[in-house]
Amino acid sequence: MSEKFDVIVIGAGPGGYVAAIRAAQLGLKTACVEKWVSDEGKPVLGGTCLNVGCIPSKALLDSTHKYEEAKHAFDVHGISVGEVNIDVPTMVKRKNNIVKNLTQGVAGLFKGNGVTLLQGTGKLLAGKKVEVTDKDGKVSVHEAANVILASGSVAVNIPPAPVNGDTIVDNIGALDFTETPKRLGVIGAGVIGLELGSVWRRLGSEVVVLEAMNDFLSLCDVDVSKEALKIMKKQGLDVRLGARVTGTEINGKEVTVKYTDSNGEQSLVVDKLVVAVGRRPYTEGLLAGDAGVVIDERGFIKVDDQCRTSVPGVYAIGDIVRGPMLAHKASEEGVMVADIIQGHKAQMSYDLIPSVIYTHPELAWVGKTEQQLKAQGVKYKVGKFPFAASGRAMAANDTEGFVKIIADEATDRILGCHIVGGHAADLIAQAVIAMEFGSSAEDIALTVFAHPTVSEAVHEAALAVDNHAIHIVNRKR
Ligand SMILES: Cc1cc2nc3c(=O)[nH]c(=O)nc-3n(C[C@H](O)[C@H](O)[C@H](O)COP(=O)(O)OP(=O)(O)OC[C@H]3O[C@@H](n4cnc5c(N)ncnc54)[C@H](O)[C@@H]3O)c2cc1C
Repeated sequence: MSEKFDVIVIGAGPGGYVAAIRAAQLGLKTACVEKWVSDEGKPVLGGTCLNVGCIPSKALLDSTHKYEEAKHAFDVHGISVGEVNIDVPTMVKRKNNIVKNLTQGVAGLFKGNGVTLLQGTGKLLAGKKVEVTDKDGKVSVHEAANVILASGSVAVNIPPAPVNGDTIVDNIGALDFTETPKRLGVIGAGVIGLELGSVWRRLGSEVVVLEAMNDFLSLCDVDVSKEALKIMKKQGLDVRLGARVTGTEINGKEVTVKYTDSNGEQSLVVDKLVVAVGRRPYTEGLLAGDAGVVIDERGFIKVDDQCRTSVPGVYAIGDIVRGPMLAHKASEEGVMVADIIQGHKAQMSYDLIPSVIYTHPELAWVGKTEQQLKAQGVKYKVGKFPFAASGRAMAANDTEGFVKIIADEATDRILGCHIVGGHAADLIAQAVIAMEFGSSAEDIALTVFAHPTVSEAVHEAALAVDNHAIHIVNRKR
């Protein structure tokens, strides 16, 4: 049956499902098309983020962090727990239950907000028509005043290491190992590689991370990447930089990985190999030949600052468009587009999208790095405060890392904040809010923070921008 909607969203990841909910909240007749089905043939909502990305990886990171603490960090508190064991299938089952609850939650939100779910593969036809082919091959065509494309991304494969779902896996396989691999190779020292590498290293895998670039986490502020590399090496992650994988050979249950580095040709034998070299926009089958939507040379759908494609009334959001491939970026674009469709003025602060790596300690940052400011010739001041000087961090026995705030030398306006620390992912929100409101470092310095909290490190870093930190001796300038 064909129906007419105000808005049809294609894809129910964090970009698409949020856009659909917002559009329905605004009173627009909304449908969301999703092709993913479970083994039981039920629609799977939530996209990469809820099913094989953000949430399951964090579930495993939390389980393994607890395991590691029980094993190595309890004795200092005087707690002895005897032999600590982990049952990997139970850990993975817990992760799967969280995923199930959340994806069912999205189905509930669709129902509660009146979003029509159209199970099937959506294709944009000319004239803002959407063809939906369901799991049984039945085709229907629906009309919409507006279409939002939100088909997301998939893992990049590289020819030297073809994923086979067994010995060589991508992010999906690495979330579902049934036992801890004795030797684990990871190709790519990016967010996903470091998070998944950390999960299995904590459970006892010998983890080698091969990174083709010579610099570690080159997008991060240089202080963050230096500190992170030091900490991760101490934790036992064997990160090899400038290591370019040239081939793999599978021998029974083992994989031999060949790579070149500054010393020439090298090889490494592992039990499992995770390929985590990045993600690419996924638009296969999304657009009919005459749909009119333009895709750029890197495969992203071309959009303006407000996610408008080249076709009036057709928008694209999330991982299929420019900008960081992050769930919160996708969701905020979804909200913005729904608001624009409803006729509201809406825009997003693309310069203030926070990034996080959920290792322990976490790495989080927003705004400009020192390298960027130097390259742009901007004069700046830096305030830094180590968690080793924070009473709360000491009480929690979690003192690695620091907060670093960078402010404009002339105006004191905050230009960037970079954190390595146990709660960096949550602390960075303070800097994002401050920067959204155009705060100066002094604004934060004059704000009252509860004591004792790790947030006080943000306060102290802001004070340190003008050499007024209280709980460290300030550098003479
Ligand atoms: C291991 C891992 C960890 C991550 N951790 C984080 C994190 O901690 N924080 C963070 O912000 N981001 C994280 N990400 C990235 C995050 O998952 C993505 O940025 C986010 O999911 C993108 O949302 P999206 O809505 O654009 O696309 P997706 O989540 O990819 O959803 C797209 C949906 O569209 C559906 N679809 C595609 N084509 C069609 C079609 N033609 N018809 C119907 N349906 C279609 C797909 O089935 C899918 O459900 C992680 C990713 C991975 C892989």
